[in-house]
Amino acid sequence: MSEYLVALTIACTLVTLSYLALKIQRMHFFENYEKIASPVLTGLACILLMQQPLSLDTGAVDLRYLPVVMAGLRYGLGNALFSTLLPTIYSIVTTEDSMWMMQTLQSLIIPAVLSSGFHRSEFRTGSKPIPIRAGLKISVLLFLTQVVIYAAVHTGGHALSESYPLLFMSVVSAVSVCLLIGMSNDENAKWLNQRKLEMKASQDLLTGLPNLRSFFEIAGRTLGFRAVSIFMIDIDNFKQYNDCWGHLHGDQLLRETGRLLKNVVAEHDYVARYGGEEFILMSTETDPVKLREYAEKIRLAVAAHPFEHAETTPVTVSIGISSAADAAADLQLLIDEADRALYISKNTGKNRITLCSESPEPALLEQQNAY
Ligand code: GH3
Ligand code: MG
Ligand code: MG
Repeated sequence: MSEYLVALTIACTLVTLSYLALKIQRMHFFENYEKIASPVLTGLACILLMQQPLSLDTGAVDLRYLPVVMAGLRYGLGNALFSTLLPTIYSIVTTEDSMWMMQTLQSLIIPAVLSSGFHRSEFRTGSKPIPIRAGLKISVLLFLTQVVIYAAVHTGGHALSESYPLLFMSVVSAVSVCLLIGMSNDENAKWLNQRKLEMKASQDLLTGLPNLRSFFEIAGRTLGFRAVSIFMIDIDNFKQYNDCWGHLHGDQLLRETGRLLKNVVAEHDYVARYGGEEFILMSTETDPVKLREYAEKIRLAVAAHPFEHAETTPVTVSIGISSAADAAADLQLLIDEADRALYISKNTGKNRITLCSESPEPALLEQQNAY
C-alpha cells in the first residue's frame, strides 16, 4: 500500500514543480524557454517520476510520461520528443537489461506522439485554453495502449484482472493531467488579463494609439542611448470640423487620423496621441533634409486622405519638428521646441512643416514654408 502512497506523493510533487515552472516561464529567466529550458525541466520531472514505480508482473509502471504529455500538448511533437532525451539516457544508465527500449517507447515516445496530436499553436502562446477533455482523451488512449501492450506481453491468461497498479497509475495520471492543464490555463488567463490591463493603461482609448504616459516612457528610454527627433502634429481647424459635423464625427476623424499616422510612420518610429487633436511622433531620423521629406510624406498623406466631409472642410495637419543634438538631450525641452516650431507652422498659414533647427528667426519662415 505504501508504494501507492509514494506514487501519489510524487504526482503531487510534480504538480507543485509544474506550478513553479509556469512561474519561471513568465519571469523570462531563460531566453529560450521553449527550446531549451522546457525540455530540460520536463526531462528532469520525468526522471523524478521514475523513482518510485509500481510493480506489475510484466515489469514496473510509473508516471514518467506525465510531463511529456504536457510538453506535447503545449508545444507539440518536436519539444515533446526532445523532452524524452534526458529520461531515456537515465533509463539506459540505470536499467540493467534491455527493458529500457520497451519502456522508452511505451512510456515516453508513444505519449509524446499521442499528446502532440492534440496540440494547437494557440496553446503555445496561451491565447486559447487547453481543453480538459483533450487531457482526458489522451489519458484514455494511453491507458488503452498500455493495456494492449500489457496483454500482448503477458502470456499467463489471468493478466488484465490483476493489473491494479496499471489502473491506479492511469487514474492518478488522468487526474494529474487535468490538474496540470487547469493550472496552465489559469496561469495563462491571469497573464493575458494582466497584459490587457497593461495595454489599456498605456493606450489612448479613442484612437488606440499609445498615450502620452507610454510615449514618455519609450521616448525617454530611447533618448537615453541615441539622438531622436520629435514631431508635434496638430490637425488644422479641428474645432471648425467639430462645430460643422458634430463631436462624434470629430471623434471619428481623430480615430482615422490616428490609424493613418500609424500606417505612414516608419517601422522603428513611435507615434502617440498627445491630447485633443494633437499627435506626437518620435523618430530616429535626425538629418534635416530627410526629416523634412518624412514630414512632407505625413502631411501629404493626411491632406490626400478621403476623410468624411473633407471636400467641404478640408483636413490637414501642421507639423513642428525638433531634433536632439545627442543622446543626452532633455525630452521635455525637445517637446517644447517642437511645440514652438508647430506654433510657427500655424501662424504662417497651417498645412505646413517647420523644423526648429531651420527656423531660428521668425523672419525666415515665410520663405521656408511657401507651399
Ligand atoms: P488650429 O488649426 O489652430 O489647431 O485650430 P483647431 O480648431 O484645430 O484647435 P483648437 O485648439 O481651437 O480646438 C481644438 C478642438 O478640439 C477643441 C476641442 O473641443 C476639440 N477636441 C479636443 N479633444 C477632442 C476629442 O477627443 N474629440 C473631439 N471630437 N473633439 C476634441
Ligand atoms: Mg488644431
Ligand atoms: Mg491643438
